[in-house]
Amino acid sequence: MTKLTLPLWINGQRTESRSSRSADVTNPASGEVIRRVPLANRADVNSAVAAARAAFPGWRDTTPLRRSRILNKFRELLETHRAELAQLASEEHGKTLEDAAGSVQRGIEVVEFAVGAPHLLKGEHAENVGRGVDCHSMLQPIGVCVGITPFNFPAMVPMWMFPIAIACGNTFVLKPSEKVPSCSLRMAELFREAGLPDGVFNVVPGDKEAVDALLVHPDVRAVSFVGSTPVAKYIYETAAHHGKRVQALGGAKNHAVVMPDAELDFTADAIMGAAYGSAGERCMAISVVVAVGEIADTLVAKLKARAEKLVIGPGDRKDVDMGPVISAQHRDKIVGYIDSGVQQGATLVTDGRGIKVAGHKGGYFVGATLFDNASTEMTIYREEIFGPVLVVLRVASLDEAIDLVNSNPYANGTAIFTASGAAARRFQNEIEVGMVGINVPIPVPMAFFSFGGWKSSLFGDLHMHGMEGIYFYTRTKAVTTRWPEVSDKNASTLVMPTLG
Ligand code: NAD
Repeated sequence: MTKLTLPLWINGQRTESRSSRSADVTNPASGEVIRRVPLANRADVNSAVAAARAAFPGWRDTTPLRRSRILNKFRELLETHRAELAQLASEEHGKTLEDAAGSVQRGIEVVEFAVGAPHLLKGEHAENVGRGVDCHSMLQPIGVCVGITPFNFPAMVPMWMFPIAIACGNTFVLKPSEKVPSCSLRMAELFREAGLPDGVFNVVPGDKEAVDALLVHPDVRAVSFVGSTPVAKYIYETAAHHGKRVQALGGAKNHAVVMPDAELDFTADAIMGAAYGSAGERCMAISVVVAVGEIADTLVAKLKARAEKLVIGPGDRKDVDMGPVISAQHRDKIVGYIDSGVQQGATLVTDGRGIKVAGHKGGYFVGATLFDNASTEMTIYREEIFGPVLVVLRVASLDEAIDLVNSNPYANGTAIFTASGAAARRFQNEIEVGMVGINVPIPVPMAFFSFGGWKSSLFGDLHMHGMEGIYFYTRTKAVTTRWPEVSDKNASTLVMPTLG
């Protein structure tokens, strides 16, 4: 049977791709091909950017309040269709339905934030910056913005970007991951139903060919990217070289530091969800535990007991804690990492290799895996595995733990588990990581704060959503005004004006 081939979404309608290339979209729980997705080519990208460019003047001049009302309607439709979006995300990604619904909700919260844009787009005003002179600033949209998103959050990560860009008066071209394209296309339909004018939001599923066409397109003004570090660096360098504003969020290796005074059952429960939720395919997943002092044996025993109880299976089964990983290739890569951990001398406490799920022979499953006694030289510590593999390192003191976390090139998220306010305060102050949790394992900031890492986890200056999102999608213009009275003396002077 021929599988349904998905369309592109250009200028407010489903559009057939002109590309001769396409890819399979697979259900990772069964290994079955469920759809085909076109891999947009340069001609497709040019059409999408042309539609976005043509829509820009009208949308820019639409009042922020009117834009906000359309976003509010879109928010209502997202709420109504939350289960459908979660189902699409779970089917194409593999995560459990409940987890997928949670991530859709976190995306909707960004739309909620974007509804408040009229307030946030107000500039500043100062009277009498000089005698008879006033100054005000305006935040204006920048034009056609682009989003390039990863496979692991099919609805949420795109919603970190396009609702805010559009609320600010920009138009948008989204290039979702070719592995999980359906949520983005469905959201485009819902946005149109909410009253969004044609061309304001466009979706071009594709791969490197589409990305490269977007990065060099002269009409693209800004690029938001979320994905792996090597690609983030490439996007940052290429788009910046072509004169675009860029924010490129990369990969992660997130550490949880567990102090000797931490409440260990609470901590072990928290780490379970953070390490193995979404099969470890979250950029904020905890993949390293740094056990400080004498608690390590007890903590590892508690983690082992919990990891062994996790139920692995298809994401749409109610009793399942952890679904499959995204592809056979990714599963094999994760298994290769586990092999390397054993070869390099880490203690394999729980082994997720070779797991079988009844009735799902073709699925891409890896069980919860736990290593103890790892060291910073080992590949399982140095590289982002992006799977259900948790690695424990043992250190003697908070000083050593902070040094260890700060020496890692990734710096997306981190957490400390402790009963000591002093230790927590020192940690939040000295740690060189963008998002920090104190007894909170996955410190993903709410939509009205900004999301982003430091170092190799972010290329660019501004994080996503919150006020940094508003600043990324606008540029500031400062206007200095004088209304001279007839009696004012001649303003002509060759001296640098000081206004005072
Ligand atoms: P990826 O880097 O392979 O792909 C991301 C996007 O870039 C996709 O749309 C893909 O089509 C495109 N792409 C891939 N290779 C490309 C290339 N060579 N040239 C141009 N474009 C290319 O990432 P992924 O596997 O989809 O997602 C997992 C990664 O994303 C992990 O590293 C994870 O940590 C990261 N991630 C980071 C965050 C964050 O907020 N920092 C959030 C989610 C995921």
